[in-house]
Amino acid sequence: MSFQIAIDGPAGAGKSTIAKKVAKEKGYIYVDTGAMYRAMAYYLISCGISKDDEKAIGEKCEGAEITIRYENGEQVVLLNGQNVNGVIRTEEVGNMASCSSKHPRVRERLTMLQKELARTNDVVMDGRDIGTVVLPHADVKVYLTASAAVRAKRRYDELTAKGELCDIKKIEEDIVKRDEQDMNREIAPLRQAEDATLVDSSNMTIDEVVTAILALCR
Ligand code: C5P
Repeated sequence: MSFQIAIDGPAGAGKSTIAKKVAKEKGYIYVDTGAMYRAMAYYLISCGISKDDEKAIGEKCEGAEITIRYENGEQVVLLNGQNVNGVIRTEEVGNMASCSSKHPRVRERLTMLQKELARTNDVVMDGRDIGTVVLPHADVKVYLTASAAVRAKRRYDELTAKGELCDIKKIEEDIVKRDEQDMNREIAPLRQAEDATLVDSSNMTIDEVVTAILALCR
């Protein structure tokens, strides 16, 4: 049996930074499920689909073949055979992902891929529905959160470090809107699994959070 660590939480809680470090410590693969939803969103945007057109999302998503592979320990997301890692980290793609991820067909396809990865590998997987839907029997479940203001500030710092111009107020508004959509959708909403440990990282360093999660694995 593979060992499974599930980390869920809202946008900008630091899930990917933490999950990557935990995976490295344990020698497991890191599966960033948000990147898969982002790749799908990127595909839909490229097809000119509006985020409110549910019918078109359901039809068009069939044309996106999403797979992942690992290069030097890094997850590479392939969309119809093309590496899309460099184009899916924008706010536009994140906001589209939050809309298109409501669609049952989109979730069904990506959930299958995620379950298969965890069946055959020891994983640290992060997302919104990992402890509740994708890996309900995970060995360790964490619900990682932080206040909206702290999350907005972290995302702002990340974007400005990359040289992108952005407005922290707008980022916070987007985060709050995205949380609301992710928590209130019908299928696989973001919520803390009953058996997950809550970690609020608002006043914690990255290393403190990593240490807390590693302690849960013992
Ligand atoms: O984590 P990240 O911000 O990259 O995720 C982008 C969007 O993908 C989320 O806002 C959410 O709507 C969707 N998502 C999801 N289920 C997951 C991971 C991400 O619905 N397991």
